[in-house]
Amino acid sequence: MAVRQGVTRRAVFALASAAVTAVIVAPAIIRPAEAARRPLEMRSLMLDNLHTGERLNTVYWADGHYVPEALRRINWVLRDHHSDEVHEIEPPLIELLARLHQRLATREPFQVLSGYRSPATNAMLAATTEGVAGNSLHIQGMAVDLRVPGRALVKVHRAAMMMQAGGVGYYPRSDFVHVDAGRVRYW
Ligand SMILES: [Zn+2]
Repeated sequence: MAVRQGVTRRAVFALASAAVTAVIVAPAIIRPAEAARRPLEMRSLMLDNLHTGERLNTVYWADGHYVPEALRRINWVLRDHHSDEVHEIEPPLIELLARLHQRLATREPFQVLSGYRSPATNAMLAATTEGVAGNSLHIQGMAVDLRVPGRALVKVHRAAMMMQAGGVGYYPRSDFVHVDAGRVRYW
């Protein structure tokens, strides 16, 4: 009986000291993980609209939140340049672009040939331009046609495909890659 009590007391003491140890050790375990996450706390996007000449370098995500003013600017730069209609650019597309930019390890902006397209503009282009789909995701603010200065188009295309994050179209004759935040597919 006395032995069993002794064992029990030692077991309780061991548990108690394990708990104390856990409390002391916990901050040291958390700190490196927080440090590793910190670079993701600020996300930015660099755009150069080739039709309007507008350039944007903006932090669209900071401290765990989207920055509304930055999103408004992105929406504006990626508006339908034929009609000046502005549409929300879907956040999944913005994230996709930011990740693609990281993969390409460049300080150059994305040169944008087409962002949002109104249904009327898209229908006009679909009737006159090769490779423009009638039901394009550009109409939903979910697609961008782009190239990157200093990066071969084939490399931009490959980097976009490797992300497996959405649709990717290759248009070497027109010198752009289409990326969208729809389902994963390539053409
Ligand atoms: Zn496109």
